[in-house]
Amino acid sequence: MSEAPLVGVLALQGDFVDHEVALQRAGLRTRQVRSPAQLDGLHGLVLPGGESTTMLTLLGVEGLWEPLGSTLRSGLPVFATCAGMILLAERVENPSQRSYGLLPITVVRNGYGRQFHSGTFALESKVLPPGTTGTFIRAPRITAVGAGCEVLARRGADAVLVQCGSILAACFHPELQPELHPVVERFAASVRRHAGAVVRS
Ligand code: GLN
Repeated sequence: MSEAPLVGVLALQGDFVDHEVALQRAGLRTRQVRSPAQLDGLHGLVLPGGESTTMLTLLGVEGLWEPLGSTLRSGLPVFATCAGMILLAERVENPSQRSYGLLPITVVRNGYGRQFHSGTFALESKVLPPGTTGTFIRAPRITAVGAGCEVLARRGADAVLVQCGSILAACFHPELQPELHPVVERFAASVRRHAGAVVRS
């Protein structure tokens, strides 16, 4: 492929620009997604952090709920952070709200407390380099992980990074750390593999 793979970043609300910068740093092209037509021709998709309740409202207003659901289920690599993870979880608590139900996990919104408890913390992981950290901002807490979902990193005893089929989801924000974060690199590698497979088929 002559051009770099193209990743759509849901751009209704939240830190979508930070995701674009991080993905471009990893050598990928990005496109802000605000309408169904902008979902066409993507090699990967990012659901950013922000406020999941607001995103839910805007997905309805923009007529994106169904088209985004089809794209999420199509098998292209998806990376969801925080509010994005909440939108995909099977079960959402505190309070419960509508979600796509594509990730077999239970999340508690603001499960680490509110702003006061936000910060950057060490991660334990067998797949990320030693010393990798994660920035948590009013983060959801994963309280249950179902079958078919691999836990890739923990903060203390809690799962904070999971891979469930084509979906990678984090409670923290690798896109906000100034260096190219290993989690962004991991997602970029999966987008490149997927884009290569699409070209060959
Ligand atoms: N607390 C937000 C929510 O419930 C998520 C915060 C984030 O995305 N950093 O939607």
